[in-house]
Amino acid sequence: MTSAPKHTPMMQQYLKLKAENPDILLFYRMGDFYELFYDDAKRASQLLDISLTKRGASAGEPIPMAGVPFHAVEGYLAKLVQLGESVAICEQVGDPATSKGPVDRKVVRIVTPGTVTDEALLNERSDNLIAAIYQQGDKFGYSTLDITSGRFLLCEPATLEAMQAELQRTSPKELLFAEDFEAVQLFESRNGNRRRPIWEFDLDTAKQQLNQQFGTKDLVGFGVEQSTFGLCAAGCLIQYVKDTQRTALPHIRSITVDSQDHSVILDAATRRNLELTQNLAGGTDNTLAEVLDKTATAMGSRMLKRWIHQPTRSISEINQRLNAVSEIKESAMFDEINPSLKQIGDIERIIARLAIRSARPRDLSRLRTALEELPNLSAILEPASDAYLQALREQSSPLDELFDLLNRAIKDNPPVVIRDGGVIATGYNAELDEWRALADGATEYLEKLEADERDRHGIDTLKVGYNAVHGFFIQVSRGQSHLVPAHYVRRQTLKNAERYIIPELKEHEDKVLSSKSKALAVEKKLWEELFDLIMPSIEQLQILASALSQLDVLQNLAERAESLDYCRPEFVDTPQINISGGRHPVVEHVLDEPFIANPVSLHSTRKMLIITGPNMGGKSTYMRQTALIALLAHIGSFVPAESASMGILDRIFTRIGASDDLASGRSTFMVEMTETANILHNATSNSLVLMDEIGRGTSTYDGLSLAWASAEWLAKKLGAMTLFATHYFELTDMPGLLPNLANVHLDAIEHGEDIAFMHAVQEGAASKSYGLAVAGLAGVPKAVIRNARNKLSQLETQSPPTNRATVKQEHQLSLIPEPSEVEVALQAIDPDELTPRQALDELYRLKKLTH
Ligand code: ADP
Repeated sequence: MTSAPKHTPMMQQYLKLKAENPDILLFYRMGDFYELFYDDAKRASQLLDISLTKRGASAGEPIPMAGVPFHAVEGYLAKLVQLGESVAICEQVGDPATSKGPVDRKVVRIVTPGTVTDEALLNERSDNLIAAIYQQGDKFGYSTLDITSGRFLLCEPATLEAMQAELQRTSPKELLFAEDFEAVQLFESRNGNRRRPIWEFDLDTAKQQLNQQFGTKDLVGFGVEQSTFGLCAAGCLIQYVKDTQRTALPHIRSITVDSQDHSVILDAATRRNLELTQNLAGGTDNTLAEVLDKTATAMGSRMLKRWIHQPTRSISEINQRLNAVSEIKESAMFDEINPSLKQIGDIERIIARLAIRSARPRDLSRLRTALEELPNLSAILEPASDAYLQALREQSSPLDELFDLLNRAIKDNPPVVIRDGGVIATGYNAELDEWRALADGATEYLEKLEADERDRHGIDTLKVGYNAVHGFFIQVSRGQSHLVPAHYVRRQTLKNAERYIIPELKEHEDKVLSSKSKALAVEKKLWEELFDLIMPSIEQLQILASALSQLDVLQNLAERAESLDYCRPEFVDTPQINISGGRHPVVEHVLDEPFIANPVSLHSTRKMLIITGPNMGGKSTYMRQTALIALLAHIGSFVPAESASMGILDRIFTRIGASDDLASGRSTFMVEMTETANILHNATSNSLVLMDEIGRGTSTYDGLSLAWASAEWLAKKLGAMTLFATHYFELTDMPGLLPNLANVHLDAIEHGEDIAFMHAVQEGAASKSYGLAVAGLAGVPKAVIRNARNKLSQLETQSPPTNRATVKQEHQLSLIPEPSEVEVALQAIDPDELTPRQALDELYRLKKLTH
C-alpha cells in the first residue's frame, strides 16, 4: 500500500506556521512576495481583488495561491485592516545561503485593526482603539486601549443601554469578547470582532498580566481594584496586545477608570442623532466636528473629538478650559500658536512607535523638528496670564538633551528605512565614520594609485575606474596596452580600451566592500541603541504630547469662537437653559441664506416647550441647536449664540427622526418606543430631553395618546427640561392644563398655493400645520393637493375636532393617577412617632377607608 503523498518541506513549514495562526491571514514571505495559500489565498483574492493562481503541487494536490509584492504590502494591509481583518506577517529569518531545505521563517508581527501603529495604516485624525468586553449577568466590564498613545481605560457599564453607548462613543476597530458572551447583538453588525477563550478573562490572570505590564505588585495605586469586571476585560486585552505585537510596550504604564460619573451622559441614539463626529449616513460631512475642527495637529484633532464625545459635568474643569480659550481669543494668540503647532505635528504616534521600537528614520527627524520648535512655542505662551495655559507651557518646555541627541544622531533628510543605512549622521560615532570613510573616502587612495601607476609605467591614458559588475579596474587605451606590465591581469576588452586588475586593487576592493557592510552593521547597531537612549524620555514625551494636544484644542476653540462669532457660555447653580440668539452650528455653516437666530428659555417654571409649526419650519433644527449649544458649553467651548447661561446637565437625551434599525430587526416604531422608554426611565430634572414627533409610527389615537402621556410624565413626574416637537395639535392644550409648560411655534406664511418659512420661534401654538402646502412644495401633483384640500374641509366639517374632544376627555382623568385617599392617609403617618396603641388605631382607620 502506498502512503498518501507528503507535503513538500516548504509546505510543511507553512502549514506549521498556519496552524499557530489559524484564524487570521498568513502572509508568507517568498523572495519579493508575500504569498497566501489554500483558504487564505481564496479569501485574500476576494478581499483584495488579486488573482488566485495555483502553485505546483503538494500532497498530490495543486495549491491555491495568491500574492502581493513586498514593496506594496502597506497598501494591502491598510485595506485588510480597514475591513477588520488581521494579518500575520511571516518573514525569512534564516540565511538562505546556509540553510538546508526551506529558509527558517517566523511570524514577526501580527497586524490587527485595533493595534496598528504604522502611519500608513492609520487614519490620522481619529482614534484607533482596541477594546475588550466582559459580561456577567446584566453587568459589563469594558476596557479600551489606544496603542498609539498608551491610553488604557476601563469601565463597568451597568446596563445594556450604557454598554451600547460606550461602544458607540469609543467605536473600537477591534473588539475582544469571550466565547460564551451573551449580548452579541451589541456588536454583531460591527467589523473586527474577535472571539477569545474564556480563560483569558480570568480575574487572577488579568491582575497578574497587568501587574507584569506595569511593573507593580498590586493595582491599588491605579484605583481599579474594585472594578473586577473591567479588569477581566483589561486582562484579556493586554494579553492579546502583547501576543500580537511581540515586543515590550513600555509606553503603556497605567490603567485608569473611565468613569461616566463626571461626564454628561449621551446614549447611543443621542450621539448618532446629534451628528457629533459622524453624520447619520456614516460620513463626516456636516457634523459638529467638521465645523469645529480646525486643529493644527492630528493629535489635537483626536483629542477634540474625545472632548466632544465626553462633555464634562465639572464646572471647574469647564471654566478652566473657557478661561484659557478666552485668553487665547482675546489676545488672538492662536495666530501664533497654530503655525507653531503645525510645525510640531503629530508626535503622539511617533512616540508610540519609539516605545515599541518600530519607528522609522523619518519619525526621528520629525520628532527633532518638533523639539526644535518648543522654545519658540514657549516664548509665544510666555505672556499668557491664565494658569492652565502656564501649566501647559510648563509641560511642553524644551527637551534640550533629547533634541541634542537627535540632532547629532540623525542626518538632515534621512531615507525612509534603515535597511540600506545612510541614517546616522556623520560625527555621531567615530567607528561608523571610519568605516564609511574607508568605504567611499577611498577615492583618495585610488587617485594616488592611479597617479603612481601612470608614472611608474609611463602610460598617460591609465585610469582607475569602477563598475558594478566587474568592480575596480585599471583602464588603458588600446594604443598603449602594449605598455602594461606582466602582472596586470586582463578583465575586459572594450572597443578602444583594455581593463585590468592587479592584486593591490583587488585587495582594496575587498576592503571597500567589507567596510560598506561593516558600516551598515555599525549603523544598525547604533540605530537600535538610539531607541534605548530615547526610552527613558518616553514618559516625558507622552506628557509633552498630551499638553500640546490640549493646547491645540484650546487654540482651535479660540479661533473658532472668533471666526464663527461664538460667545462664552455661563454656568449657574440651578437647572436651566437660557439662550438668546442661538444658532445651529452646522446648519448655519452650510446654509446659503442667513440663519435666523432663536432664543430658548427653560427654567423651574418653564420646563417644557411644546413646539409646533409646519414641516420644514425648523423645529428639528431648533431642538438640535439647543442640544449642541449645551453640549459645546459642557466641553468648554464658546457657543453659537448671543448669550447662553445654563446649569450643569446630567444627560442629554434625543428621540429624533425615526430610522428602521433593520440590522437588529426592529421596526421604526419599536426603535422609537425603545428610545422613549429609555428616556422615561432615566431623565431627571437636570436632563435635557429632545422629543421629536413621537407616536407617528402607529394609529393616530395610539400615537397621540402615547405622545400625550409621555409629555405628561416628563413634565409632571420627571421635571426634565424638554423640547417636545409634535404634529398633534391636541398637545398644544397641555400648557393650559399643566404647570411649567409653554407653547412655542415656528412661523410660516402662506401665499395662495405657496408657503414661506420664517424659521423664527414665537411664543404660543401654531395656528395650523400647513401639511398640504409643504406637500405642494415637495412636488406632489397640484391635482392631488387640490383633492386633499377638498377632503380636508370635508373632514373638518363632518367630524368637528374629534381628536381634540377625545383627548380633552382623557386629560380630565389625568394619565398619572391622583393618589387615593388611603395613599394620602398613609403618607401622613410617621411610624416613628406612633405608640403601639396609636398604630393599631391607624390600621383600623386605614382599613375603613378601603371600603
Ligand atoms: P422641521 O423639523 O420643522 O421639519 P427642519 O428643522 O428640518 O424643519 O428645517 C428645515 C430646513 O429649514 C433646514 O434644513 C434649514 O435649511 C432651514 N432652517 C431651519 N431652521 C432655520 C433657521 N433658524 N434659519 C434659517 N434656516 C433654517
